[in-house]
Amino acid sequence: MKKTAKIVVALLVAMVMVLTMLAAVACNNTDDPCKDGHKLKAVQRKEATTEAAGYEAYWECENCHKLFSDSEGKNEIQKPVEIQKLDPAAGKYGVETAPISVAQALALADEECASPDDFTQKVVYATGKVFTQPAYNTKGYYEQFTFQDLTDTDRKIIVYTMSNDANAPAPDQNDTIVLKGYIKNHQGTIEFSSYKDADNNYTYVQLLKNTKGTSTITLNSDNGATVNGLNQSGTNGSEISFTVTPNQGRKIVSVKANDTVLTAANENSYKFTLHGNVTVKIETADENAKLAEKLQSVHLFNDASGDDNQYISTYTATNSNGLALTVYGFSTNNHSGSWGNARCGRKGNDQTGETAATISTKTAIEQQITKIVVKVDAMTKEVTFVNSFKLIVASNADFSTVVETVELTMKVGENEFQITNPGKGYYYKIVVDSNQTGANGCYQFSTIDFWGLAD
Ligand SMILES: [Zn+2]
Repeated sequence: MKKTAKIVVALLVAMVMVLTMLAAVACNNTDDPCKDGHKLKAVQRKEATTEAAGYEAYWECENCHKLFSDSEGKNEIQKPVEIQKLDPAAGKYGVETAPISVAQALALADEECASPDDFTQKVVYATGKVFTQPAYNTKGYYEQFTFQDLTDTDRKIIVYTMSNDANAPAPDQNDTIVLKGYIKNHQGTIEFSSYKDADNNYTYVQLLKNTKGTSTITLNSDNGATVNGLNQSGTNGSEISFTVTPNQGRKIVSVKANDTVLTAANENSYKFTLHGNVTVKIETADENAKLAEKLQSVHLFNDASGDDNQYISTYTATNSNGLALTVYGFSTNNHSGSWGNARCGRKGNDQTGETAATISTKTAIEQQITKIVVKVDAMTKEVTFVNSFKLIVASNADFSTVVETVELTMKVGENEFQITNPGKGYYYKIVVDSNQTGANGCYQFSTIDFWGLAD
């Protein structure tokens, strides 16, 4: 054996011995005081002051003195999570140039908004990140979104009815913004909310400043095409362009940015403007395949009853091809101009069982329908209030002979009900079964499209 080879062998033998010894030590360690679990003691959150930083609540084991960020001892931490020292210029409520954080705003609410309908004593200036895409209504306000702390990302607050009088750039998911407004305890939930003065005048939360953020771009392709030039992230407001070239024997069915169908600008090139995290979805088909087409489309804003303030109304929505839908439990109540379309979901009562909101075809559709797309353009209450959102396909007008039921979780955008057993001469009914929500008209629908194979 050569000398170098001998050294290598000796080193390997030594390494194996050391590893064996280490393993033995680990196995024989019967002194672990926590082998049957930690004995955890809670340490309360300490708020930051202008003098000193604070920390988040944590749990310490009385035996081994390890620290955990959760009460079950699952997530071990090296030190308590720090809460930044307050900027002395900002004070407790913040100022425009030195706003407080979302976490500090929540701590302030703990102090000053203990009971329902309590407001903070003074107007608050806070900075944070836009967590969910704000819904913009036709009255010119942002209805609802979630506002997240910049560092302590678990701390979030709901923002209601925000105005943009300062003409800051329109807010998108992931932007860093500065808000001015009062914080309210709304039936136990802490919110940035409109402030009502003694004369019943509302002051809305104001968007003062917006720094555009970075959003993610995710590609979801069926691999029937080659995608080039698509970045994985971009700045909100910027134009994203890329090319999609179908592979041999394939053709493009659709290219979408979230729910928006993109049309090729010129051969194979697509673009869109980035507004929050997006999924680019590419669907292809065999080049000889016959594709489903949009055969019928009905817009729901058509209240034939003419009664503007009737919440529950039954009316007929018709399209130019003569397809008629019976709309029940929705309202096209204009609500001082803020409702863009037909809405369901209400404050006073549940819309469940017999009173569930429905949209159904009045006559059979002769062609085979393979997909129904329901466009929901706003949800001002969480989807948790919705017990079920489904499509019922039936072979008779009273829906007593059901052919198929398809259920979805409602989302803002296009809700696609895929029909697995399409047939001719069927009837279709969309059902929204929801509990009372604390507000009227929380779910706004605009169009229903019927897709199928043209004869
Ligand atoms: Zn322990």
